[in-house]
Amino acid sequence: MANHHGDHPRRPLRFVIVGAGMAGILSAIKLQEAGYDSIVVYEKADRLGGTWRDNTYPGIACDIPSHLYRFSFAPNPDWTHTFAPGHEILAYLEDVASRFGVRDRIRLGEEVVRLHHDGDRWNITLAGGEIDHADVVIGATGVLHHPRYPDIEGLDTFAGASFHSARWNHSVELAGRRVGVIGTGSSAVQIVSAIVGTVGELRLFQRTPQWILPVPNPPIDEEQRARYREDPASMDALRKELGQTFETNFANAVVDANSPQMQLIEEMCRQNLETSVRDPGLRERLRPDYRAACKRLVVSPDFYDAIQQPNARLVTDPIAGVEPGGVRTSDGTLHELDVLVLATGFRVDQFLRPIEVVGPSGVTLEQLWAQRPTAYYSISIPGLPNLFLLNGPNGPVGNFSLIDVAELQFAYISQLVDLLDRGEARLVSASARATERFEAERVEAARNTVWVTGCRSWYLDDRGIPSAWPWSFDRFRAEMAAPRLEDFDLVPA
Ligand code: NAP
Repeated sequence: MANHHGDHPRRPLRFVIVGAGMAGILSAIKLQEAGYDSIVVYEKADRLGGTWRDNTYPGIACDIPSHLYRFSFAPNPDWTHTFAPGHEILAYLEDVASRFGVRDRIRLGEEVVRLHHDGDRWNITLAGGEIDHADVVIGATGVLHHPRYPDIEGLDTFAGASFHSARWNHSVELAGRRVGVIGTGSSAVQIVSAIVGTVGELRLFQRTPQWILPVPNPPIDEEQRARYREDPASMDALRKELGQTFETNFANAVVDANSPQMQLIEEMCRQNLETSVRDPGLRERLRPDYRAACKRLVVSPDFYDAIQQPNARLVTDPIAGVEPGGVRTSDGTLHELDVLVLATGFRVDQFLRPIEVVGPSGVTLEQLWAQRPTAYYSISIPGLPNLFLLNGPNGPVGNFSLIDVAELQFAYISQLVDLLDRGEARLVSASARATERFEAERVEAARNTVWVTGCRSWYLDDRGIPSAWPWSFDRFRAEMAAPRLEDFDLVPA
C-alpha cells in the first residue's frame, strides 16, 4: 500500500510506464490500486493494445483459451470462442483500461527515445523533445514486437503488394488474387487457413515444416455467455480448471522433454499429420524432422485442410529471390504473385531497444547487453536501478499465458516499489553477482527442455540456448512470491 499520504516527508513516487499493451495497462491499474497517483503511460502508437493492436491479419486468435488469457481481476463473460479472435482481445484491453480508470493516464503517440538515470531519478526523453521525470520506470514494451523482415534478394523489387504479418495492409484486395505467404509459424498457419477460401491461388513458402496440434475452436453460444454473466464465479472455476490443464499438459511438459505429457503431444501431432494429409508426398514434405514443441508449437484445427485445397500449393524449394513478378525458387520456377505476405516473425532480442538507456554510472543498456539481453529473473538489470521489466529477457514466454506471467511479475515488482515508498531504499536493482548466478542456473536447466532437442527457433539465442524460463510454472510462481533482498543492491534513502 502506498505510504506517501498524510505527513510523510518524502516526495510521492512518480512512475513512468513505457508501452500501453497488456503489461502496461496492468501496471497502471495495479499502481493506481496501490494508492499511487503520479503515473503516466507513454505509448508510441495512436492506440493502446500492443500486439493485439499491431496484429490484425486474417484468422488472428490467441492459442491460449480466452478464459485463461485475461486479467485475473477482470473476467469476461463475452468471449465468443474458446480461442477469441484478436479484435475481441483488443476490445477487452480497451474496455479494461476504461473500466479500471487508467485511460487518461495513457499518452498516445508519445515515443520514449531515452531513459537516463542521473543518480536521483529517471529522465525520460520523448521523441518530440519533451523530458519527463520518474522515480520508477516500468518497461512494458513486449517481446514479439519488432517485425523481422527476411533477408531475401530482390524483396524490394516486388511489383505487387508486400507486407509483414504484423503490419497487415487491409486496403489490399485478396479475393481472386495470387497470394504468397512466407513462413510456417503460428502467424502464417492462421493466415493460410483464413484466406485460402478467398484468394485465387495460394503459395505457402515453407523453409521448415511445423508440427501442428489440432485443437478445435468451438464458439461459446449466447446461452453460455449469459450463464457466465449471471454467475461470474463459474468463470473463475473455469479459469482455474483451464489453468491446471494447460500447466500440466503443456507448460510443464515442454521443460521436461521426456515427460509422458510431452510424448502425448508428439503423438497427437503425428496422428494429425498421418490422418489429415491424404497425399503421401505432401505428407512427407509437411513432416518435421525434429521433435514436436521444439519450435513453439503451432495450434490449428484446419491448417492441413487448408493446404490441401485445390488452389493451395506448398512450396518447399528454397527461395532464391524475389522479382517484380513473384518469388523465384532455387529450382528455377517463378511463382507469379500479386500479394506477398511476410509471416517471418519478430526480432525477439530487442525488448526496450531502440530506446537509449543510461544508468547513473553512465553505463548503457547497449553495453550491458552487448552479448545478449539478460536480466535478473527477467525483471531487473544490474546498474539500472528502479527500472523494472515486464515480460523481459529470458522469461516465461510462449508456453504460459503472458497475462498470468505479467501479473506475477508485477506483484513481485510492487514489493520492491514498496521498499522505495517506505523509504527503506532509494534505489534498487539486482546485483551483478545474483544476475550471473541466476543466468548460470537458467542455462543449466535449459538442457532438459524440448527446445534444445534439435531445431532452429526464435527461442534460441546466439549460443543456441533457449532465451526462456526453463522451469515449471509452479517454480515461477514460487520465485515471484517475494524478492530475495540479498540479491539486490539497495541504496539507502
Ligand atoms: P515465427 O514463429 O518466428 O515464424 C517465422 C517463420 O518465417 C518461420 O517459419 C521461419 O522459417 C520463416 N522465415 C523467416 N525468415 C525466412 C526466410 N528468410 N526465408 C524463408 N522463411 C523464413 O513467427 P510467427 O509465426 O509470427 O510467430 C511468432 C510467435 O508469436 C509464435 O511462436 C507465438 O509465440 C506467437 N504467436 C501466437 C499466435 C497464437 O496465439 N495463435 C499467433 C501468432 C503468433 P524457419 O522455421 O525455417 O525459421
